[in-house]
Amino acid sequence: MSSSKKMMLAFFLNLGFALIEGVFGFLFNSSAVLADAVHDLGDALAIGTAAFLERFSHKKADLRYSLGYKRFSLLGAMVTSAILISGSSLILVENIPKLWAPEPVNHRGMLLLGILAILINLTASFIIRKGQTRNEAILSLHFLEDILGWLAVILVSILLEFTDWYFLDPLLSLIIAGFILSKALPQAYSTLKIFLEAVPEGIDLHQLRQQVSQLETVEQVYQINVWTMDGLNHYASIHIRPKADVQEAFCKKAIRQIFENQSIYQVTIEIDWSEAEHLAHDKERPQSANHSHHHH
Ligand SMILES: [Zn+2]
Repeated sequence: MSSSKKMMLAFFLNLGFALIEGVFGFLFNSSAVLADAVHDLGDALAIGTAAFLERFSHKKADLRYSLGYKRFSLLGAMVTSAILISGSSLILVENIPKLWAPEPVNHRGMLLLGILAILINLTASFIIRKGQTRNEAILSLHFLEDILGWLAVILVSILLEFTDWYFLDPLLSLIIAGFILSKALPQAYSTLKIFLEAVPEGIDLHQLRQQVSQLETVEQVYQINVWTMDGLNHYASIHIRPKADVQEAFCKKAIRQIFENQSIYQVTIEIDWSEAEHLAHDKERPQSANHSHHHH
């Protein structure tokens, strides 16, 4: 089976099963099953949007999107984490009060659904494990991880066979929701930072500025901007004044090298020879406003 067909299968398995869980979660009155439904819906969306938007993000830049389509690959992550965060927040709000006022659940139904879920996850994991790509490896591991959640559902349903500790069901739903949030919140945060043009993780702007300032060819650094397209492809623009009698090409080459050492390969360098103009601007404008002035 080809990689994309396997992803399709994983997508439909998760989506179909999320719907089944949603219906039976209500029928069995089980919050834990509903929490797993949210989780599997998130999985389906993550797989579906990754498969679709990844391909789209490799499109070459054109007249409409001159920077290319790389950020489209982030859209899926944004939508998926938004749904996961709202879904699990809903579970938290619904089920914290339920801890003190638990309702009976259909634990035999939960047991059967749990067994079915484990069979489906094992099958999916097995089909995908035969693949080679990184995505497939992550996905295969993920399905095994999901089995742990279902083992907990089965454990709760067995305990409820012998006791009436119905608080275990909302408690498990809270644990599952917490687990979802612990993954979705950092994911949402790092994606949001990319959209907000934050300096990419792992890049030390202060250090970069120092390295450029210390070049023999550079007199002064006016402005450095570093941003990332998708967390992997970083861009930079820098505005400097070289020392007198320095060749522009020579100066630029040294600067490019510094950025390339940090895996920043798309660098726009503006060279400015006149001193007086900038000294005047730097006094009257904050640095961020300075940038747009020089480029437009
Ligand atoms: Zn999952």
